[in-house]
This record gives sequence, C-alpha cells and structure tokens, in this order.
Amino acid sequence: MEDRKPELKSIFKYASAEAFDKIFPSNKHVVFKLSLPKDFNDPYELSLTIDFNQPPDILACYQEVIGKIQQIPTTCFSELPSIIPMWAHYAKNSTGFSIELDVDLVKKELPEAAFNFVSYRDEPSDTVLDHLYKAARIGKFRHIGFLNDAVYHAAYFTKTKCWDCEKEVRMVINEKHTRIVDGDILIDIPIVAVKRIICGQKTANPEREKIKNFSKENGIGFYDLRIGRLSATPYFIDEIGNSHIFDLARNAFLKSKNQCENCKEPISQKEGSHCPWCKVEDHHRVVASSTRAFG
Ligand SMILES: [Zn+2]
Repeated sequence: MEDRKPELKSIFKYASAEAFDKIFPSNKHVVFKLSLPKDFNDPYELSLTIDFNQPPDILACYQEVIGKIQQIPTTCFSELPSIIPMWAHYAKNSTGFSIELDVDLVKKELPEAAFNFVSYRDEPSDTVLDHLYKAARIGKFRHIGFLNDAVYHAAYFTKTKCWDCEKEVRMVINEKHTRIVDGDILIDIPIVAVKRIICGQKTANPEREKIKNFSKENGIGFYDLRIGRLSATPYFIDEIGNSHIFDLARNAFLKSKNQCENCKEPISQKEGSHCPWCKVEDHHRVVASSTRAFG
C-alpha cells in the first residue's frame, strides 16, 4: 500500500444506469469487467517508469523486464463516492449510480484479491532506475527482484497527474477467479461485499426505484447523491432523510451534525434549523424585486 493513506475500508465503482442489469445480473453476485495492463496502459505512461536517456545495455535490460511483466486482470475503483468528474464521466452526468464495496468483505470472499492505490506522477522514478542499474550491472538475484517489483508497481499503479482527481484504487486478481464472456474478462464478487448503492442527482425515477428496491431486497444500503447550494462537495441522503458526508481521512460516511430541515443540506450548528437559502422567504423576494437598483 502507498504510505499516504489510512486503511482502506470502502471503494466505489461508478456506472451508468443502463449497466445495472449487467453489474447485478442476480442477487448472488456483483459483476465487474477487468482488463490487462497491456490494454489499459497508455504507452506514454511507461515513460513514467524511467528516464529513457540511458546506455543500450540498460535499455535492453529494461525491455527484458517490461516484456515479462505478468498480465494480471485488473479493475478500477475510486476511494471516494463524491467526485463530480467521476459522476459526470462514468455515471453519465449523474444519471447513473455508484457501488460501495466493503474491502474487508471482498478480501474475505476473494483472499487472493490485492488492492493498491494508484500513484500519480509526471516524472519517471529514480528508484526504478536505481534498481535497473543494479540489476543490469551487478545482476544479483535480489536486484532483479527489486527491479521486477518496481516495474510491476509502475505498470499497474502509476498514472500521470492529470488523472489525480479520480483517486483510483486498483484491484488485481489471478485469472483463475475470472471468467470470459464475449471477450470480456469478468469477476463475480459475492453480493455480501456490496455495502451500499448511491444513485446520482439526476438518476431517472424508474431506474432509481429499481435500484432502491434491489438494494432493499438484498440488505444493501441506499443513498441519493445531492449537490448542495452551500458547498462544492456533494452530500448523501439516506432512506430516512438523514444527510451524510464522506470523510476522506476516515474513508467512511459520517452523519451530518446538523442539516437544513427543508432541503436537508448539511449546515453548521449555528445556522439553526434552516440553511441560508431556505431562510429566504417571499417577503425578501418582494423587497429584492422592488429594489430599483436591480432594474
Ligand atoms: Zn435548505
């Protein structure tokens, strides 16, 4: 695991509403698509492994190692349920949903699944280069081991900084746990590992009802995503109308200490029962519209 994070409890997969039946084909499993590093790595991302201005024996050694990287099925998650660009892109402009998985339960069901945070960088790594020189010029067994590990980490868990907002977590799993359908590599994760499903702000009502009912029937939590008027960070409403925010440091949802009685947006305790927007009443609007300055 990367050093910058606390323990990982929850991970999130964003998807479009149309994908629901494929992801939840029954009430037994949640099904995700995986891909291999050779398919998901942009070629330029390999330039993040080392600076390629090196002598030929070093580059030849690098080529040898990179060519032998094992192709292990991998699937992507995010460590946050509140990333607006993720809702926009993967959940089709907030019309889809996001699935919260309990990482411990996934590990319990699939002990071979390994999780790692993606690190984001724009410069190649000196560590990999150091291991490469030692492997190529000294060539001891442990040097080659270090190099293999470093290149593996770079190929599976490194992206350029422009992707940083995705806060990606990748799961790798031995292919013997996967199955292939129409050329897609799929993994079936027992549904017990699904903690919650969150519908987007714009998920259409029939889809939302369907997802909500499915959650209820299978003992899965259900939240609605809301984009508030006071803060740029989205919040979440549970089935009984309580609002929650997602706390990155704790990697968990926290119930708001105070929320607007009308619109449910989380507010500070000093605001009282209503948010500043819900305190605006008709007589304020009348005064505002009669103010000459606004024409
Ligand atoms: Zn309000």
